[in-house]
Amino acid sequence: MIKSQLYKLVTREFKPNNTIVNVNGVKIGGKEIIVIAGPCAVEDEDQIISIARNIKKSGAKILRGGAFKPRTSPYSFQGLGKQGLKILAKAREITRMPIATEVMDTENTKLVCNYADILQVGSRNAQNFSLLKKLGKCNKPVLLKRGMSQTLEEFLSAAEYILKEGNPHVILCERGIRTFETATRNTLDLSIVPLIKQRTHLPIIVDPSHGTGLRNLITPMSKAAIAAGADGLLIEVHDEPEIAKSDGHQSLNIAEFQHLMLELKSISKAVGRTL
Ligand code: PEP
Ligand code: MN
Repeated sequence: MIKSQLYKLVTREFKPNNTIVNVNGVKIGGKEIIVIAGPCAVEDEDQIISIARNIKKSGAKILRGGAFKPRTSPYSFQGLGKQGLKILAKAREITRMPIATEVMDTENTKLVCNYADILQVGSRNAQNFSLLKKLGKCNKPVLLKRGMSQTLEEFLSAAEYILKEGNPHVILCERGIRTFETATRNTLDLSIVPLIKQRTHLPIIVDPSHGTGLRNLITPMSKAAIAAGADGLLIEVHDEPEIAKSDGHQSLNIAEFQHLMLELKSISKAVGRTL
């Protein structure tokens, strides 16, 4: 019986088996833990290609990078826009890794859809219903980030908007919520991971970069996320975090990322997953 009146297509009652989202052959929601990595923002071509090659070597399966950036201040770097999408496409061509990038508004949905393999909906847009409806009509997988003050019910209802319009390829992402705690950028709510697994058939990944905002918390929280049942991770990686145009303070450098990936192998194995 379906209990909630707010959503049905996302529930396990409606579809008992796990949904596996296939991104150009990379399967999210299966036995393998999928790591999506890359800089917060696309800054230039050489940078992205070099980061992409390095993260691939360490075991990342999908490249991320923002071309359109939702920044708190209008004076901060806003992203390269279409040029950033072209750079990502070039990195995909060279490395054969699928690319994930954010779509910020309905105006640019078609453009981003033409380039990206995964369309990311950012936390600030988690309840932009016009955008969600439009993405429901796209044929590309959607990475839906949890809004920073969104309850589980609201999060799943947002996902329902996409499924209802005909797009079943939705990956949920826990990226931390706003609480009274100021020691971390957000409070990473890992309890939602097993809860989501119980309530829905959709894959869920965890973003400890935005979830904590602290570089030295990425490894422990990534391990905890895998132990809690996450299907993957979203990690910000930069070749020179000190001079990154956004989120450098929470980005791992290449060596740190390589180390993280090694550390995640045993925890993945311990919970019956591969990496
Ligand atoms: C991002 O992934 O760079 C981003 C802006 O994330 P969020 O929407 O979770 O803040
Ligand atoms: Mn970021």
